[in-house]
Amino acid sequence: MIGLSTKIEEIPKVGVAYAKKLKKFGIKTVQDLLFYFPARYDDFSEIISIKEAHQRLGQTVCVQGQITEIENTNTFKKFMSLTEATIQDRDGEIKVIWFNQPYLAKSLKEVDFVCLAGKISLYKEGIYLNNPAYERINEIGENEELTHTGRIVPVYAETRGVTSRWLRYVIKPLLYRFCDQIQESLPEEIIKKYKFLPIQEAVWQLHFPDSFEHADAAKSRFSFEELFLIQLNVLKKKIKLMIKKAPACKMDADLMKKFTDSLPFQLTDSQKKCAFAILKDLEKSVPMSRLLEGDVGSGKTVVAAMCALNVVKCGHQVAFMAPTEILAKQHFKTVSELLKNFDVKVGMMTGKDARICRGGETFEVSKKSFKGDLEFDQIDIAIGTHSLIQKGVEFSKLGLVILDEQHRFGVEQRDHLIKNKKLVPHLLSMTATPIPRTLALTVYGDLDLCLIDEMPKNRKKVKTIIVEPSQRKEAYEFIKKEVSDGKGVFVIHPKIESNASKLKEILEKSGPINGSFIPQNYAPMSLSSLAINEVKALKEEYEKLSKEVFPDLRITMLHGKMKPAEKERIMLDFKKGEIDILLSTSVVEVGVDVPRATIMMIEGAERFGLSQLHQFRGRVGRSDMQSYCFLFTTDPSMLNRKRLKALVECNNGFELAEKDLEIRGPGSLYGTVQSGIPDMAMQGLSNIFLVEKTRAAAKEILEKDPELKNYPQLKERLKQFQSRIHFE
Ligand code: ADP
Ligand code: MG
Repeated sequence: MIGLSTKIEEIPKVGVAYAKKLKKFGIKTVQDLLFYFPARYDDFSEIISIKEAHQRLGQTVCVQGQITEIENTNTFKKFMSLTEATIQDRDGEIKVIWFNQPYLAKSLKEVDFVCLAGKISLYKEGIYLNNPAYERINEIGENEELTHTGRIVPVYAETRGVTSRWLRYVIKPLLYRFCDQIQESLPEEIIKKYKFLPIQEAVWQLHFPDSFEHADAAKSRFSFEELFLIQLNVLKKKIKLMIKKAPACKMDADLMKKFTDSLPFQLTDSQKKCAFAILKDLEKSVPMSRLLEGDVGSGKTVVAAMCALNVVKCGHQVAFMAPTEILAKQHFKTVSELLKNFDVKVGMMTGKDARICRGGETFEVSKKSFKGDLEFDQIDIAIGTHSLIQKGVEFSKLGLVILDEQHRFGVEQRDHLIKNKKLVPHLLSMTATPIPRTLALTVYGDLDLCLIDEMPKNRKKVKTIIVEPSQRKEAYEFIKKEVSDGKGVFVIHPKIESNASKLKEILEKSGPINGSFIPQNYAPMSLSSLAINEVKALKEEYEKLSKEVFPDLRITMLHGKMKPAEKERIMLDFKKGEIDILLSTSVVEVGVDVPRATIMMIEGAERFGLSQLHQFRGRVGRSDMQSYCFLFTTDPSMLNRKRLKALVECNNGFELAEKDLEIRGPGSLYGTVQSGIPDMAMQGLSNIFLVEKTRAAAKEILEKDPELKNYPQLKERLKQFQSRIHFE
């Protein structure tokens, strides 16, 4: 029997060939097809007389009439065919021209009645209807059962060989046949409370709306539903964790005071607030899941070290994971230094080596002995890359896991640490990626959030300047002067400059990102295939800078293809002042603290997202010296100007993230592009009220019924949904 779960190739109109094409959209079953919603609509709902149409030059109109003649003519240009026709109604007639649809003269005949929707244009001697959408009707005045004209017409995202017209032609009869088999997935109480359209009607109205109000109502129902599913997903995860036990680590206030007194600076109020919130969480026997957000340079590491110290003194171990070896080493140094007077054994393990710091002295040890020490509780704080959670690494008393820039670690890796443990460690995740509230409440919704929203007092605001091509010389002179004062300069070079056509090709293949072709750090392209070009382009820039622009300065390149040890050596040389200008690509890890660097120069600034530019900028201004960020751009388009100006005016990563959201839409949000978040939810992500509503609704349901036993349809939808999305 044919039903919602029938495979589409079994639908006669679809067949194997079309089924293959539809699979590209993830459409496999009748149900999938019914849930393939249009991207937008054409409004052909007003049908006017042909006489009236003559008055509407330049407008898109819909008319009905009888064909009085129709024929194909070949144009002077052979590659184009024309179909010309004339139609008439009671008191007027009009010429119609179609391009490259020669089959029309066969399928539409003289005496046929048609409904046509298209633009009234001027051609040679007269007015005509230009390439209209068409549909045969029985008589003039018929407007009940129209599909492609005479109504609000759905327009779908198309692929080669699957047109919107074809989709309408297939979907409409399927709707008639199967729509009433679609089961309601939202709980009845929610439908009632928010006055949503029931699912069957909403599906109809999304495809073939009676009015734009109906389409909107249907859309908001599905926006709600998809966000609601995201919420259920993260909240369920949270509940699952809540029933586990974690080691309760009582806050030692005296110790914490001793620690803060030992610092060469005063903690900011924000740092204190966040540290307190985390320490309070650690006191509970419920596993903490916290996200500590703070702009680059806001001082998250000290807060983490402080909490780690408290956990260690309660008799537990801490794993501190960094996304790269360079950062792991930096953290190892920082944390050992911060805790040197507190009798804490800090260790570090990266891909190759392992070190231990005791009483201020660092020893190299074998990885084997490091692992042994971990297992027998001889290391209190283990810092490292993902090698810390590989097989064969066992902590004896793991109490807290700290993840720096966690979204680079896969979710499974995090779960790996938690697996098979009687006691689940607390989790503190730190990020400088600004997460707008809507995302924090959805994608990151299983984490509690705290925010360091203030910079250490000694910092000067980085001066950000958009450098016009004519000012380039001036900027170079300024750089020379700064270097002669002993300061360091970063130059960021966009991924591939010399091979713009290749980039374009790759981006076009991967489709527009949110309607534009601005490459992002998260652009869905294969970085490895670009790495070669990237290095080549970087070398070209290096030649230019070192030979022509700054022949007297010490310039060094840094890129993703280098070995970690080499990168580390370069970073250290730069830090020590043995390199004046560090030229690097954007993919290279630049989380290293270089207080002497005061200039961040970014080439092709228009190619980066605001948040990413802000991250680059955060590499300078890490001391009390005045720092500068130069944005070089060759693209004067308004959109880019607007974005770069936002960066000049605003120094706050969170505001910038919200601005990116406003200017470029939800597609610009970190991690959403590849997360598989459905369109409707994406649109909903820019609406904080909707997000909050869905969160409250999900909470309410789960509190009553954590397993969703009484909501089998919802449970099923959630299961399907979970297999589709994948967050980091
Ligand atoms: P991020 O939040 O980017 O990880 P870090 O923790 O690396 O920032 O801190 C950046 C720098 O600021 C470090 O050198 C750190 O010692 C310093 N720092 C942290 N907190 C303060 C403070 N309250 N006052 C002055 N300097 C601070
Ligand atoms: Mg950091």
